[in-house]
Amino acid sequence: MLQMVDLKKQYQRIDADINREIMEVLQSTQFIGGPKVNAFRENLEKYLNVKHVIPCANGTDALQIAMMALGLKPGDEVIVPAFTYVATAEVIGLLGLTPVMTDVDPDTFNITAEHVKAAITPRTKAIVPVHLFGQCADMEGILEVAHEHGLFVIEDNAQAIGADYMHSDGHVRKAGTMGHFGCTSFFPSKNLGCYGDGGAIMTNYDEFADAARMIANHGQSRQYYHDKIGVNSRLDAIQAAILNVKLPHLDTYNTNRRSAADAYDAAFSDVAALSAPARSAKSTHVFHQYTLKINTPDPVKTRDELKAYLQEKGIPAMIYYPVPLYKQGAFQHWWHGGELPVTEQLCKSVFSLPMHSELTPDVIGKITDAVRGFFAGKA
Ligand SMILES: *Cc1c(COP(=O)(O)O)cnc(C)c1O
Repeated sequence: MLQMVDLKKQYQRIDADINREIMEVLQSTQFIGGPKVNAFRENLEKYLNVKHVIPCANGTDALQIAMMALGLKPGDEVIVPAFTYVATAEVIGLLGLTPVMTDVDPDTFNITAEHVKAAITPRTKAIVPVHLFGQCADMEGILEVAHEHGLFVIEDNAQAIGADYMHSDGHVRKAGTMGHFGCTSFFPSKNLGCYGDGGAIMTNYDEFADAARMIANHGQSRQYYHDKIGVNSRLDAIQAAILNVKLPHLDTYNTNRRSAADAYDAAFSDVAALSAPARSAKSTHVFHQYTLKINTPDPVKTRDELKAYLQEKGIPAMIYYPVPLYKQGAFQHWWHGGELPVTEQLCKSVFSLPMHSELTPDVIGKITDAVRGFFAGKA
């Protein structure tokens, strides 16, 4: 059986470095904070070319801490895509804020400036663009709308670390460094994954960095003086040590993912029932997921059959995401009814194939042959 993500092969390529770094932490017994965490913070700041990185316990915490640091208050509206992972909107609900769910672009799966504009009300305070599956949302347009309306922008960059966004004047910024805050996750299967949970908050604003640092550390300004209600959210030293080894490989990992995506694209170019993932003209794609759309008259049925067919051949496939946010039980309170047409269609038709840094032409061939075989059999 193949895997959606092959973490074992990736580990085996760097195991000597990883093992040595972990042993150093064990021998130092500095498990919380300390040199490994500080080094990772600096390494990531340098890699992303961002002023402040605040490591924390996971990507969901990163989003929550960012929203707390911006001083968002119950009743404030926060615009989010309806087609995303639940964490993006979950923290909004948890803080008593109001998630305003919008539709997304059918090709990039991301929100655009137009979606944001249509969702703004006098209560809107922030926008959370999600760089879904590995490429940036239309940041230039979204930042412009945000600026016009005095809104905060928090990038959910859990799936696009390392992606580059090109502004129309030619300057390039890393995903997660353009908004007031960027938030990312080091969950093992993410493009930069640790061996447990981890996350980070990025910002170029000194005052927001100070606020986020304080909130992540029990709202503490100096030891045992607590100015605000905060949380306890730390990246531990073993995870930081692992990330220090993996960060220099991130660009190679992303290049490998991109090559795998190119090979998938080529193999499916003549399969009429499949649409390959669109590439944004303004963003590189780091392919956290390789997500196709099925365009048969009954995509749900085709997708179920394809999934079963592949399963039999030992090939996994996943559906990210099968249910719009507004149809999740947890979000009923914030939904006025009705459906968002693109989100509905995507939930019915998207289909993700194995994607990771260790895919070989041989394995890709096996996967694409099977998918092509399925559709050839249908013709
Ligand atoms: C993974 C992910 C998160 C949450 O990260 P965790 O580290 O699992 O808390 C948030 N948003 C998106 C889009 C994600 O993919």
